[in-house]
Amino acid sequence: MAEIKPETQLVHIGRNPKYTQKGVNPVIQRASSIIFDTLEEKRHATRHRANSVLFYGRRGTQTHFAFQEAMTELESGAGCVLYPSGAAAITNAILSFISADEHILVTGSAYDPTQNFCDNILTKLNIQTTYFDPLIGTGIADLIQPNTRIVFLESPGSITMEVHDLPTIVKTIRAKSPEIVIMIDNTWAAGVLLKPLLFDVDVSIQSATKYINGHSDGMLGLAVANQRCIETLRENSYLLGQTADPDTVYMANRGLHTLPTRLKQHQINSLQVANWLQQRPEVEQVFHPALENSPGHEFFIRDFTGANGLFSFQLKSRLTTEQFTAFLDNFNHFKMGYSWGGFESLILGYQKEDLLNMRQYDFSPKEGTFFRVHIGLEHTDDLIHDLQLAFERI
Ligand SMILES: *Cc1c(COP(=O)(O)O)cnc(C)c1O
Repeated sequence: MAEIKPETQLVHIGRNPKYTQKGVNPVIQRASSIIFDTLEEKRHATRHRANSVLFYGRRGTQTHFAFQEAMTELESGAGCVLYPSGAAAITNAILSFISADEHILVTGSAYDPTQNFCDNILTKLNIQTTYFDPLIGTGIADLIQPNTRIVFLESPGSITMEVHDLPTIVKTIRAKSPEIVIMIDNTWAAGVLLKPLLFDVDVSIQSATKYINGHSDGMLGLAVANQRCIETLRENSYLLGQTADPDTVYMANRGLHTLPTRLKQHQINSLQVANWLQQRPEVEQVFHPALENSPGHEFFIRDFTGANGLFSFQLKSRLTTEQFTAFLDNFNHFKMGYSWGGFESLILGYQKEDLLNMRQYDFSPKEGTFFRVHIGLEHTDDLIHDLQLAFERI
Protein backbone atom coordinates (compact mmCIF):
# COMPACT_ATOMS: atom_id res chain seq x y z
CA MET A 1 0.00 0.00 0.00
CA ALA A 2 1.25 3.48 -0.84
CA GLU A 3 2.32 5.47 2.18
CA ILE A 4 -0.72 7.35 3.45
CA LYS A 5 -0.81 10.95 4.59
CA PRO A 6 -1.07 11.91 8.28
CA GLU A 7 -4.72 13.01 8.02
CA THR A 8 -5.67 9.61 6.61
CA GLN A 9 -3.45 7.72 9.05
CA LEU A 10 -5.15 9.43 11.97
CA VAL A 11 -8.63 8.62 10.71
CA HIS A 12 -7.69 4.91 10.69
CA ILE A 13 -5.52 4.82 13.79
CA GLY A 14 -6.83 3.42 17.09
CA ARG A 15 -9.51 1.35 15.38
CA ASN A 16 -8.09 -2.16 15.51
CA PRO A 17 -11.17 -4.40 14.96
CA LYS A 18 -10.00 -6.49 17.92
CA TYR A 19 -11.14 -3.62 20.14
CA THR A 20 -14.08 -2.08 18.28
CA GLN A 21 -16.69 -4.88 18.26
CA LYS A 22 -18.04 -3.63 14.91
CA GLY A 23 -18.27 -0.04 16.03
CA VAL A 24 -16.12 2.67 14.48
CA ASN A 25 -14.48 3.32 17.86
CA PRO A 26 -13.02 0.96 20.47
CA VAL A 27 -15.21 -0.14 23.33
CA ILE A 28 -14.86 1.44 26.76
CA GLN A 29 -13.92 -1.48 28.92
CA ARG A 30 -13.90 -0.70 32.60
CA ALA A 31 -12.25 -3.49 34.51
CA SER A 32 -10.23 -4.16 37.60
CA SER A 33 -10.64 -7.93 37.84
CA ILE A 34 -9.97 -9.95 34.73
CA ILE A 35 -11.23 -13.50 35.18
CA PHE A 36 -9.96 -16.80 33.79
CA ASP A 37 -11.89 -20.06 33.46
CA THR A 38 -8.91 -22.34 33.17
CA LEU A 39 -5.40 -22.49 34.51
CA GLU A 40 -4.09 -22.57 30.96
CA GLU A 41 -5.92 -19.33 30.15
CA LYS A 42 -4.47 -17.68 33.24
CA ARG A 43 -0.95 -18.85 32.36
CA HIS A 44 -1.33 -17.50 28.84
CA ALA A 45 -2.41 -14.08 30.17
CA THR A 46 0.51 -14.02 32.57
CA ARG A 47 3.01 -14.82 29.82
CA HIS A 48 1.62 -12.17 27.47
CA ARG A 49 0.56 -9.52 29.99
CA ALA A 50 2.84 -6.90 28.40
CA ASN A 51 1.38 -7.47 24.93
CA SER A 52 -2.24 -6.35 24.80
CA VAL A 53 -3.59 -9.43 26.55
CA LEU A 54 -6.08 -8.91 29.36
CA PHE A 55 -4.38 -9.72 32.69
CA TYR A 56 -5.34 -7.26 35.43
CA GLY A 57 -6.92 -3.80 35.30
CA ARG A 58 -3.71 -1.94 35.99
CA ARG A 59 -2.15 -3.53 32.87
CA GLY A 60 -4.94 -2.01 30.78
CA THR A 61 -8.08 -3.11 28.98
CA GLN A 62 -9.13 -3.16 25.33
CA THR A 63 -9.65 0.62 25.43
CA HIS A 64 -6.07 1.13 26.56
CA PHE A 65 -4.71 -1.37 24.04
CA ALA A 66 -6.40 0.46 21.15
CA PHE A 67 -4.92 3.82 22.16
CA GLN A 68 -1.49 2.37 22.98
CA GLU A 69 -1.31 0.75 19.55
CA ALA A 70 -2.36 4.03 17.95
CA MET A 71 0.32 6.04 19.76
CA THR A 72 2.98 3.41 19.07
CA GLU A 73 2.19 3.71 15.37
CA LEU A 74 1.96 7.52 15.41
CA GLU A 75 5.33 7.94 17.14
CA SER A 76 7.01 5.03 15.31
CA GLY A 77 7.90 3.24 18.54
CA ALA A 78 7.94 -0.30 19.90
CA GLY A 79 5.31 0.32 22.58
CA CYS A 80 3.44 2.90 24.63
CA VAL A 81 2.88 3.26 28.38
CA LEU A 82 -0.02 5.32 29.78
CA TYR A 83 -0.07 7.52 32.89
CA PRO A 84 -2.72 9.56 34.73
CA SER A 85 -1.10 12.86 33.61
CA GLY A 86 1.70 14.25 31.52
CA ALA A 87 3.62 15.05 34.69
CA ALA A 88 3.38 11.40 35.77
CA ALA A 89 4.65 10.32 32.35
CA ILE A 90 7.71 12.55 32.72
CA THR A 91 8.58 11.56 36.29
CA ASN A 92 8.02 7.85 35.75
CA ALA A 93 9.97 7.77 32.51
CA ILE A 94 12.91 9.43 34.27
CA LEU A 95 12.72 7.13 37.33
CA SER A 96 12.64 4.09 35.05
CA PHE A 97 16.16 4.73 33.78
CA ILE A 98 18.15 6.31 36.61
CA SER A 99 19.49 5.17 39.98
CA ALA A 100 20.85 6.82 43.08
CA ASP A 101 24.07 8.82 42.67
CA GLU A 102 23.71 9.14 38.91
CA HIS A 103 23.40 12.25 36.75
CA ILE A 104 20.78 13.68 34.39
CA LEU A 105 21.07 16.46 31.81
CA VAL A 106 17.88 18.49 31.38
CA THR A 107 17.13 21.25 28.88
CA GLY A 108 16.98 24.63 30.58
CA SER A 109 13.60 25.49 29.10
CA ALA A 110 11.90 22.29 30.26
CA TYR A 111 8.35 22.55 31.57
CA ASP A 112 8.65 24.01 35.07
CA PRO A 113 7.25 20.97 36.96
CA THR A 114 9.85 18.78 35.20
CA GLN A 115 12.56 20.98 36.70
CA ASN A 116 10.84 20.96 40.10
CA PHE A 117 10.78 17.16 40.03
CA CYS A 118 14.52 17.06 39.39
CA ASP A 119 15.21 19.65 42.10
CA ASN A 120 12.89 18.21 44.77
CA ILE A 121 12.61 14.48 44.16
CA LEU A 122 15.73 13.37 42.29
CA THR A 123 17.87 15.19 44.83
CA LYS A 124 16.53 12.80 47.50
CA LEU A 125 18.24 9.99 45.56
CA ASN A 126 21.39 12.08 45.31
CA ILE A 127 20.81 12.35 41.57
CA GLN A 128 22.40 15.52 40.25
CA THR A 129 20.74 17.58 37.50
CA THR A 130 22.63 19.82 35.09
CA TYR A 131 20.49 22.22 33.06
CA PHE A 132 21.72 23.33 29.66
CA ASP A 133 20.96 25.99 27.08
CA PRO A 134 18.32 24.55 24.70
CA LEU A 135 20.39 25.84 21.76
CA ILE A 136 23.50 23.99 22.97
CA GLY A 137 24.04 21.75 19.89
CA THR A 138 27.38 19.88 19.98
CA GLY A 139 28.23 21.59 23.29
CA ILE A 140 26.21 18.87 25.02
CA ALA A 141 29.31 16.63 24.79
CA ASP A 142 31.14 18.72 27.39
CA LEU A 143 28.35 18.21 29.95
CA ILE A 144 28.24 14.42 29.78
CA GLN A 145 29.75 12.81 32.86
CA PRO A 146 30.73 9.15 33.39
CA ASN A 147 27.53 8.70 35.47
CA THR A 148 25.15 10.55 33.12
CA ARG A 149 22.23 8.21 32.40
CA ILE A 150 19.55 10.43 30.83
CA VAL A 151 19.40 13.47 28.58
CA PHE A 152 15.96 15.08 28.80
CA LEU A 153 14.89 17.38 25.93
CA GLU A 154 11.83 19.48 25.16
CA SER A 155 11.29 21.26 21.84
CA PRO A 156 10.12 23.96 21.52
CA GLY A 157 10.91 24.79 25.14
CA SER A 158 8.15 25.82 27.52
CA ILE A 159 7.32 29.58 27.52
CA THR A 160 10.47 30.73 25.66
CA MET A 161 9.95 28.40 22.67
CA GLU A 162 13.56 27.53 21.72
CA VAL A 163 13.77 24.71 19.16
CA HIS A 164 16.65 22.21 19.64
CA ASP A 165 19.03 21.15 16.91
CA LEU A 166 17.75 17.65 17.62
CA PRO A 167 19.83 15.54 15.18
CA THR A 168 23.05 17.27 16.24
CA ILE A 169 22.33 16.83 19.95
CA VAL A 170 21.39 13.15 19.51
CA LYS A 171 24.42 12.34 17.31
CA THR A 172 26.75 14.09 19.74
CA ILE A 173 25.40 12.09 22.68
CA ARG A 174 25.53 8.79 20.77
CA ALA A 175 29.11 9.41 19.68
CA LYS A 176 30.30 10.05 23.21
CA SER A 177 28.11 7.79 25.32
CA PRO A 178 25.77 5.48 23.37
CA GLU A 179 24.17 4.02 26.51
CA ILE A 180 22.57 7.30 27.59
CA VAL A 181 18.78 7.25 27.35
CA ILE A 182 17.56 10.25 25.37
CA MET A 183 14.04 11.44 26.20
CA ILE A 184 11.97 14.29 24.87
CA ASP A 185 8.82 16.01 26.03
CA ASN A 186 6.99 15.97 22.68
CA THR A 187 3.73 17.55 23.90
CA TRP A 188 3.96 20.60 21.61
CA ALA A 189 4.25 18.45 18.48
CA ALA A 190 1.48 16.08 19.66
CA GLY A 191 3.22 13.19 17.89
CA VAL A 192 2.27 14.74 14.56
CA LEU A 193 4.53 17.74 13.95
CA LEU A 194 7.77 16.05 15.10
CA LYS A 195 8.67 12.33 15.22
CA PRO A 196 11.50 12.13 17.75
CA LEU A 197 12.06 8.37 17.52
CA LEU A 198 12.94 8.81 13.83
CA PHE A 199 15.80 11.01 15.10
CA ASP A 200 17.05 8.15 17.31
CA VAL A 201 15.50 9.54 20.50
CA ASP A 202 14.66 6.62 22.85
CA VAL A 203 11.51 7.84 24.62
CA SER A 204 8.93 10.39 23.43
CA ILE A 205 6.72 11.69 26.23
CA GLN A 206 3.48 13.61 25.94
CA SER A 207 0.81 15.21 28.00
CA ALA A 208 -2.23 13.89 26.12
CA THR A 209 -4.14 16.41 28.22
CA LYS A 210 -3.19 18.98 25.56
CA TYR A 211 -3.79 18.56 21.81
CA ILE A 212 -4.47 14.82 21.72
CA ASN A 213 -7.52 15.05 23.93
CA GLY A 214 -7.93 18.56 22.63
CA HIS A 215 -11.05 19.62 24.52
CA SER A 216 -9.74 20.70 27.94
CA ASP A 217 -11.67 18.00 29.75
CA GLY A 218 -9.29 15.19 30.59
CA MET A 219 -5.86 14.48 32.05
CA LEU A 220 -3.63 11.82 30.53
CA GLY A 221 0.05 11.15 29.91
CA LEU A 222 1.93 8.74 27.71
CA ALA A 223 5.41 7.66 26.74
CA VAL A 224 6.35 5.85 23.54
CA ALA A 225 9.70 4.04 23.59
CA ASN A 226 11.88 2.24 21.07
CA GLN A 227 12.80 -1.46 21.24
CA ARG A 228 15.82 -0.76 23.44
CA CYS A 229 13.81 0.98 26.18
CA ILE A 230 10.19 -0.19 26.09
CA GLU A 231 10.55 -3.19 28.41
CA THR A 232 12.32 -1.21 31.16
CA LEU A 233 9.88 1.68 30.81
CA ARG A 234 6.81 -0.59 30.94
CA GLU A 235 7.92 -2.73 33.87
CA ASN A 236 9.21 0.17 35.98
CA SER A 237 6.05 2.19 35.41
CA TYR A 238 3.98 -0.85 36.34
CA LEU A 239 5.96 -1.29 39.56
CA LEU A 240 5.38 2.38 40.33
CA GLY A 241 1.64 1.74 40.02
CA GLN A 242 0.88 3.78 36.92
CA THR A 243 -2.48 3.39 35.23
CA ALA A 244 -5.06 5.52 33.40
CA ASP A 245 -8.83 5.36 33.46
CA PRO A 246 -10.50 3.94 30.34
CA ASP A 247 -12.99 6.81 29.89
CA THR A 248 -10.19 9.37 29.53
CA VAL A 249 -8.19 7.02 27.32
CA TYR A 250 -11.26 6.67 25.10
CA MET A 251 -11.50 10.46 24.76
CA ALA A 252 -7.82 10.70 23.89
CA ASN A 253 -8.22 8.01 21.23
CA ARG A 254 -11.22 9.84 19.80
CA GLY A 255 -9.20 13.06 19.77
CA LEU A 256 -6.62 11.51 17.47
CA HIS A 257 -9.03 11.44 14.51
CA THR A 258 -9.38 15.23 14.36
CA LEU A 259 -5.85 16.02 15.55
CA PRO A 260 -4.22 16.99 12.21
CA THR A 261 -7.24 19.08 11.24
CA ARG A 262 -7.31 20.90 14.56
CA LEU A 263 -3.54 21.47 14.50
CA LYS A 264 -3.77 22.99 11.02
CA GLN A 265 -6.44 25.46 12.13
CA HIS A 266 -4.52 26.30 15.30
CA GLN A 267 -1.48 26.95 13.10
CA ILE A 268 -3.38 29.22 10.71
CA ASN A 269 -4.94 31.15 13.59
CA SER A 270 -1.71 31.47 15.57
CA LEU A 271 0.23 32.74 12.56
CA GLN A 272 -2.42 35.37 11.86
CA VAL A 273 -2.26 36.57 15.46
CA ALA A 274 1.55 36.32 15.57
CA ASN A 275 1.93 38.36 12.37
CA TRP A 276 -0.44 40.99 13.73
CA LEU A 277 1.53 41.15 16.98
CA GLN A 278 4.79 41.58 15.06
CA GLN A 279 3.40 44.78 13.52
CA ARG A 280 2.47 46.28 16.88
CA PRO A 281 4.78 49.10 18.01
CA GLU A 282 4.68 47.79 21.61
CA VAL A 283 6.04 44.36 20.66
CA GLU A 284 9.77 43.62 20.85
CA GLN A 285 9.71 40.02 19.59
CA VAL A 286 7.33 37.18 18.80
CA PHE A 287 8.56 33.73 19.81
CA HIS A 288 6.74 31.53 17.31
CA PRO A 289 8.87 28.69 15.88
CA ALA A 290 7.44 29.24 12.38
CA LEU A 291 8.58 32.89 12.36
CA GLU A 292 12.06 33.71 11.11
CA ASN A 293 13.56 35.42 14.15
CA SER A 294 12.35 32.82 16.66
CA PRO A 295 15.19 30.90 18.40
CA GLY A 296 15.96 27.68 16.54
CA HIS A 297 13.68 28.58 13.63
CA GLU A 298 16.13 26.98 11.16
CA PHE A 299 15.83 23.65 13.03
CA PHE A 300 12.06 23.99 13.16
CA ILE A 301 11.86 24.40 9.38
CA ARG A 302 14.12 21.39 8.88
CA ASP A 303 12.65 18.94 11.44
CA PHE A 304 8.98 19.81 12.05
CA THR A 305 6.09 19.47 9.61
CA GLY A 306 4.07 22.37 11.02
CA ALA A 307 3.18 24.54 13.98
CA ASN A 308 0.20 24.83 16.33
CA GLY A 309 -1.51 27.48 18.47
CA LEU A 310 1.05 27.95 21.26
CA PHE A 311 3.59 30.78 21.18
CA SER A 312 4.89 33.76 23.16
CA PHE A 313 5.65 37.43 22.67
CA GLN A 314 7.62 40.05 24.52
CA LEU A 315 6.92 43.75 24.84
CA LYS A 316 9.59 46.44 24.41
CA SER A 317 9.00 47.74 27.91
CA ARG A 318 8.20 46.34 31.30
CA LEU A 319 4.58 46.97 32.27
CA THR A 320 3.87 48.45 35.68
CA THR A 321 1.85 46.30 38.06
CA GLU A 322 -1.25 48.35 37.18
CA GLN A 323 -0.69 47.96 33.43
CA PHE A 324 0.05 44.25 33.80
CA THR A 325 -3.23 43.80 35.67
CA ALA A 326 -5.21 45.96 33.23
CA PHE A 327 -3.82 44.02 30.27
CA LEU A 328 -4.64 40.57 31.66
CA ASP A 329 -7.83 41.12 33.66
CA ASN A 330 -10.24 42.26 30.99
CA PHE A 331 -10.11 39.90 28.02
CA ASN A 332 -13.31 38.67 26.42
CA HIS A 333 -11.81 35.59 24.76
CA PHE A 334 -8.33 35.02 26.23
CA LYS A 335 -8.68 33.58 29.71
CA MET A 336 -5.76 33.02 32.04
CA GLY A 337 -5.10 29.36 32.58
CA TYR A 338 -2.27 26.89 32.84
CA SER A 339 -2.53 24.20 30.22
CA TRP A 340 -3.24 24.67 26.50
CA GLY A 341 -4.16 22.51 23.50
CA GLY A 342 -7.93 22.83 23.87
CA PHE A 343 -10.29 24.67 21.52
CA GLU A 344 -10.13 27.87 23.59
CA SER A 345 -7.62 30.72 23.70
CA LEU A 346 -5.52 31.24 26.81
CA ILE A 347 -2.95 33.76 28.01
CA LEU A 348 -0.33 33.93 30.77
CA GLY A 349 1.89 36.90 31.64
CA TYR A 350 5.45 36.94 33.02
CA GLN A 351 7.79 39.64 34.21
CA LYS A 352 11.54 39.20 33.83
CA GLU A 353 11.94 37.82 37.37
CA ASP A 354 9.22 35.22 36.73
CA LEU A 355 11.17 33.99 33.70
CA LEU A 356 14.45 33.96 35.64
CA ASN A 357 12.77 31.88 38.38
CA MET A 358 12.05 29.18 35.79
CA ARG A 359 15.57 29.05 34.35
CA GLN A 360 18.66 27.47 35.93
CA TYR A 361 21.22 28.05 33.22
CA ASP A 362 22.91 31.15 31.87
CA PHE A 363 19.76 32.88 30.66
CA SER A 364 19.31 36.64 30.46
CA PRO A 365 15.90 37.74 29.21
CA LYS A 366 15.25 41.31 28.12
CA GLU A 367 13.33 43.66 30.39
CA GLY A 368 10.04 43.67 28.49
CA THR A 369 6.96 41.95 29.87
CA PHE A 370 6.41 38.51 28.38
CA PHE A 371 3.17 36.73 27.42
CA ARG A 372 2.43 33.20 26.36
CA VAL A 373 -0.73 32.64 24.38
CA HIS A 374 -2.59 29.61 23.18
CA ILE A 375 -4.56 30.53 20.09
CA GLY A 376 -7.75 28.51 20.01
CA LEU A 377 -10.34 27.91 17.32
CA GLU A 378 -12.20 31.22 17.68
CA HIS A 379 -12.21 33.54 14.64
CA THR A 380 -8.95 35.49 14.62
CA ASP A 381 -10.78 38.78 13.97
CA ASP A 382 -12.28 38.42 17.44
CA LEU A 383 -8.98 37.41 19.03
CA ILE A 384 -7.06 40.27 17.41
CA HIS A 385 -9.75 42.71 18.50
CA ASP A 386 -9.43 41.37 22.05
CA LEU A 387 -5.65 41.92 22.00
CA GLN A 388 -6.07 45.37 20.47
CA LEU A 389 -8.30 46.37 23.39
CA ALA A 390 -5.65 45.04 25.80
CA PHE A 391 -2.99 47.26 24.21
CA GLU A 392 -5.37 50.22 24.46
CA ARG A 393 -5.78 49.53 28.18
CA ILE A 394 -2.06 50.07 28.76
C1 LIG B 1 1.06 20.48 30.42
C2 LIG B 1 2.41 19.96 30.14
C3 LIG B 1 2.89 18.83 30.80
C4 LIG B 1 2.14 18.17 31.93
O1 LIG B 1 0.99 17.57 31.53
P1 LIG B 1 -0.24 17.28 32.53
O2 LIG B 1 -1.07 16.35 31.74
O3 LIG B 1 -0.87 18.59 32.81
O4 LIG B 1 0.35 16.66 33.76
C5 LIG B 1 4.13 18.36 30.43
N1 LIG B 1 4.87 18.95 29.49
C6 LIG B 1 4.46 20.05 28.85
C7 LIG B 1 5.31 20.65 27.81
C8 LIG B 1 3.21 20.59 29.15
O5 LIG B 1 2.81 21.72 28.54
